[in-house]
Amino acid sequence: MKTIRLIFVLIFVSAPLLMAQEEEKREPKKMYPRHTEFWQPQPSVVEPAAPLKAPSDAIVLFDGSGLDEWVGPKDAAPGWKVENGVVTIVPGAGEIITKRQFTDFQLHIEWMEPVGIEGVSQQRGNSGVYLQGRYEIQILDSYNNETYVSGSAGSVYKQHAPLVNATLPPGQWNVFDIIYEAPTFKKDGTFRTYPHVTVIHNGVVIQNHTEILGTTEYVGFPKQKAHGPGPIMLQDHGNPVSFRNIWIREL
Ligand code: MG
Repeated sequence: MKTIRLIFVLIFVSAPLLMAQEEEKREPKKMYPRHTEFWQPQPSVVEPAAPLKAPSDAIVLFDGSGLDEWVGPKDAAPGWKVENGVVTIVPGAGEIITKRQFTDFQLHIEWMEPVGIEGVSQQRGNSGVYLQGRYEIQILDSYNNETYVSGSAGSVYKQHAPLVNATLPPGQWNVFDIIYEAPTFKKDGTFRTYPHVTVIHNGVVIQNHTEILGTTEYVGFPKQKAHGPGPIMLQDHGNPVSFRNIWIREL
């Protein structure tokens, strides 16, 4: 029985291999499939994201239980309200900022404007996600709410309008998936390579590897100043926007 198995291995497994090796010796300059195949390292196995659940390798920034990952202005405890798995801006309490700092990352964040929202243009459901604490992706109720396009939901504030408007009405959860590439700097502090951002809003690409020109100023042009890793900051613009299911993966 063992002999039969050995013969089988020789004929069906070893023989083609030996023939291939012989052929390679005869024609050393020819390309073979194995020349473009690499086997190590194998990618880590990750349990993917699911509704209201982060992927297994993500840093969970807010899962509804509390704001342990965040501080408020001047490192004080965050003043926003956590209730029923949701955190809502308390106008006047100031921004919230992650304790951790990040460079390149994938960020998932869900936000909702309140039913019965009031105000128009920039005064309607305004908040924002600041990448590395400096570059704002606008949050706004852009559902039937006209404003300057470079300040609408999903804009790189005052720099790039979103490609389309994918905003859901107040009372429904919007999802931002943000992929961010940090800048590198020249000696004088200006960008050597610009920061880039891709934003997917409710499954729709609204920023496609967009070049960020500098800080997102309300008045004046973007500024470039050297920096290292930075936090995620959520803006308090005086409107009670809600958030849930916030997680980040460093890239
Ligand atoms: Mg804003």
